[in-house]
Amino acid sequence: MIKRYMGFQKNNGVFPYIWLILCILPFYFIFQSQSTIEIMVGIFLTILFFVFYRIALVSRGWPVYIWTFILIGISITSTSLFSYVYFSIFLVYFIGNIKDRMTFYILYFVLLISTSVSFNFSIVQQKELFLKQLPFVIIIWISVILLPFGIHNRKERGQLEEKLEDANKKISELIKLQERERIARDLHDTLGQKLSLIGLKSDLARKLINKEPERARNELKDVQQTARTALNEVRKMVSSMRGIRLKEEIVRVKQVLEAAQIQLESEPEVVLKNVSPLTENILSMCLKEAVTNVVKHSGATTCSISIEQSWKDVKMTIKDNGNFKSTKEYFAKGHGLTGMKERLEFVNGSLEILTKEGTTLIITVPNDGKEKRGE
Ligand code: ATP
Ligand code: MG
Repeated sequence: MIKRYMGFQKNNGVFPYIWLILCILPFYFIFQSQSTIEIMVGIFLTILFFVFYRIALVSRGWPVYIWTFILIGISITSTSLFSYVYFSIFLVYFIGNIKDRMTFYILYFVLLISTSVSFNFSIVQQKELFLKQLPFVIIIWISVILLPFGIHNRKERGQLEEKLEDANKKISELIKLQERERIARDLHDTLGQKLSLIGLKSDLARKLINKEPERARNELKDVQQTARTALNEVRKMVSSMRGIRLKEEIVRVKQVLEAAQIQLESEPEVVLKNVSPLTENILSMCLKEAVTNVVKHSGATTCSISIEQSWKDVKMTIKDNGNFKSTKEYFAKGHGLTGMKERLEFVNGSLEILTKEGTTLIITVPNDGKEKRGE
């Protein structure tokens, strides 16, 4: 609530001076009075007005009504006793800044009616001082009618803008989070897998170095090749964060299988249509993970990869002739298969794992490109 009123208090330019004049002005009117008691009452009422105004600024809920009624009372008394009408300006700002619509309307009408009645009453009484400043009184009266709405609307617009800003911040946070997760997954799929392959290969080379130096040399060559590929992938990921095309991935996968001495039985033809870059990227990542698993876990000698596209989806099958190692809870065990499943779910795809006679992964994703074929 305090923050709510800081808006106009913070206003720079001429506003602080206007408020200062409005704080001093009542005393000028009070000292026009002849009687000492009236002067005393006037000073007391003015001090009381500012004290209650300060309290009203920091109060919430129903007390706002009490303080506003008291303030309106003091304003009316000042109008009838000293022809001082300018307390209304404070009230106009106070009521205009009230957040709650209902409270705003109630207090607005109370202020409008009470001010109008007290002004008319003073005109009827033909008060000299009041009539002297009639043009100002009319300005104040128009302000009482119009200004609260202006302030209230500006306040509401400000709040909406604040909400919009908050929402935008939240969206960008979510995007960041999503991007972080994606980078984590990509790192796992590129660096993680390549490094484990390098580990395996160099281990093998170390064992073979004395017995079969020629094979060891070949293994080390593969290690070098894999390290280069990993470096290239990381460079690509870091520099542009762009998706890896399926065609490029198949070339890489072939190299990996060759390095692991697993024969690639059938090589897929890739001519994908109506598939978004995101889906193609996900397919590439899935292919990479599936083949890495074949190399790491299956103990297979052959592997086949096929990619078929129908009018509604793309089906990618990766089959090996090894043994599926873990029979239960394999989704919870590592990161690879879980990540694959999550990604596929993201594009409304699915993952099926068959573990009879080796392992078969069937990955299906819908065609989600812009142009739809009526095949
Ligand atoms: P990460 O992928 O995080 O490096 P991971 O490969 O062990 O770890 P997943 O890819 O989720 O994890 O695989 C889960 C488990 O399923 C593996 O640990 C392995 O036992 C088994 N598995 C997966 N693919 C095959 C496969 N082609 N042949 C045999 N076992 C497999
Ligand atoms: Mg894995």
